[in-house]
Amino acid sequence: MKLYDQNNTLSERHIKADKNADERVPDQMWLRCPHCHQLLFAKQLTQYAVCPNCDYGLRIPARHRLSWLVDSFEEFDKDLQTKNPLHFPGYQEKISKLQRQTKLNDSVLTGEASINDQLFSLGIMDPTFIMGSLGTVTGEKITRLFEYATTHRQAVVLFTASGGARMQEGIMSLMQMAKVSQAINEHAAAGLLYIVILTDPTTGGVTASFAMDGDIILAEPHALVGFAGRRVIEQTIHQQIPVDLQSAENILHHGFIDRIVKRQDEKKLLEWLLKTGSVANE
Ligand SMILES: [Zn+2]
Repeated sequence: MKLYDQNNTLSERHIKADKNADERVPDQMWLRCPHCHQLLFAKQLTQYAVCPNCDYGLRIPARHRLSWLVDSFEEFDKDLQTKNPLHFPGYQEKISKLQRQTKLNDSVLTGEASINDQLFSLGIMDPTFIMGSLGTVTGEKITRLFEYATTHRQAVVLFTASGGARMQEGIMSLMQMAKVSQAINEHAAAGLLYIVILTDPTTGGVTASFAMDGDIILAEPHALVGFAGRRVIEQTIHQQIPVDLQSAENILHHGFIDRIVKRQDEKKLLEWLLKTGSVANE
């Protein structure tokens, strides 16, 4: 069976025929782009893990993103641990397992980074750690990142990826929204630059707070960005919402963000923005 045409793209006929391909092939060998549904051979993907057909950036661990994003990185607060404040059953075991898998203590990686000798404070949320949900350690690490940046007069670059506040930590999670926002406010009052890059998905309490507080807000192609999920909205307003309502492209069209940037262009753009920001600050 011929799967590919001369341009190495799957024909429409085979996309339909292969709807259940994920169940027939070994894990990690083939995957399907969640946006355009193109079947992708894993070995074809570059280090950026981007769909060659539509530029959608696949969900990747924070340390994977770090590997091509910066020239140097010194990690902060890698030993902070959640205390399971609500004594949620099974939560501690879940956290321990994810810590081993992701080599992170919680859903965000923070530290001081550099691109072309420009130092800045960097945070990368990890969609593979309880869907990047905002817990007490995540909130504390991001708050400390902004406080460090304010003290050392650095810009902050934050990659967001989140399903929202973490239910296992209840109201303690919700409080992180206000705490981080206050640290951002002090960073802004010091005249310092904050750049956000929204990745797939950025939703819930993260969208409702620090993801939308940036001086410059970028997004990766086709990233889902919203507050409530599609089903919740439809059940609340009793009507169907457009398919692309919560896409990065749609919110750009409505002026919520400044620009969509392909993953492979992010480092160059950040270098330019950081340079421009530091010149403006002099
Ligand atoms: Zn695609």
